[in-house]
Amino acid sequence: MTKHSGKTIDKVDGIKIINCESCGFVHVSPIPSDEELRKFYEKEFYQYERPNYFKETQEDLSWWMATYANYYRIFEGLTKGRTLLDIGSGPGHFLACGKKRGWKTVGIEPSSVAAEYSRKRGFATETGFFRYEDAKKLGTFDVVHAALVLEHVPDPIGFISDMKKMLKKDGILAIFCPNDYNPLQNILRTQQKMKPWWVVPKHHLNYFNPESMQKLLVKQGFQIEKTLGTFPIETYILTGKNYVGNHVVGRACHQERKKFELMLYKNHYDILNTLYAGLAQAGIGREFLIIARK
Ligand SMILES: [Zn+2]
Repeated sequence: MTKHSGKTIDKVDGIKIINCESCGFVHVSPIPSDEELRKFYEKEFYQYERPNYFKETQEDLSWWMATYANYYRIFEGLTKGRTLLDIGSGPGHFLACGKKRGWKTVGIEPSSVAAEYSRKRGFATETGFFRYEDAKKLGTFDVVHAALVLEHVPDPIGFISDMKKMLKKDGILAIFCPNDYNPLQNILRTQQKMKPWWVVPKHHLNYFNPESMQKLLVKQGFQIEKTLGTFPIETYILTGKNYVGNHVVGRACHQERKKFELMLYKNHYDILNTLYAGLAQAGIGREFLIIARK
């Protein structure tokens, strides 16, 4: 068993956040047991079970689809195969985008409400948490994608190694994660004395940045193909629009961001991708997408 130790960088809700030297990334300490996590997720109020979830998502759908199409376009430049496994597939929007582009997709989703919705839309979806022993019957894939998953799992190193087993030879792994303790958050913290609002230890066990995730993947034998940041939404707080804990301000900022990105997705996605690759290199962007080859 790995011994987790490193400098404590925060303590939130009585839970320590350490910069773990053996793992090479920031995570909670102690790491909850599988049993504790199972109990937590059984009681967990899944976002998909909120009454307004599907309605609110509808408002952002064209933006989500344009964003996903941009990511699929990158995959298509890196592999000739067109099979994709989406781990944490939610209501199936990523699967839908793939299907539209001629991909054969399968989803795995722990929320039964979301998985059922996805199946009703006609997308192959397994209900449950991703475990290699359960998933291996699905075969291997050209691309394995996991968005907003790795920050939740107790053993990201084991999780990545299991995802690798689901890939064909030379297959592509795509990981999308929040970029935490990023330079803009750190500026807001030191200059405006803001609390570390991105630290939510009950939900997020791990706090990655592009560099720590790249290192983790290289250690497991992957070759990094591309790293993109997402829109540096914290710039709004720096201009005085503090959306933290304010849903109305948050939605307004999000609308502007969507407008900007949709404009570029239309004819100039290459410019946007160059810009976002540069951001990732500087460690900036609210999330990041890393695409790596087995
Ligand atoms: Zn550790």
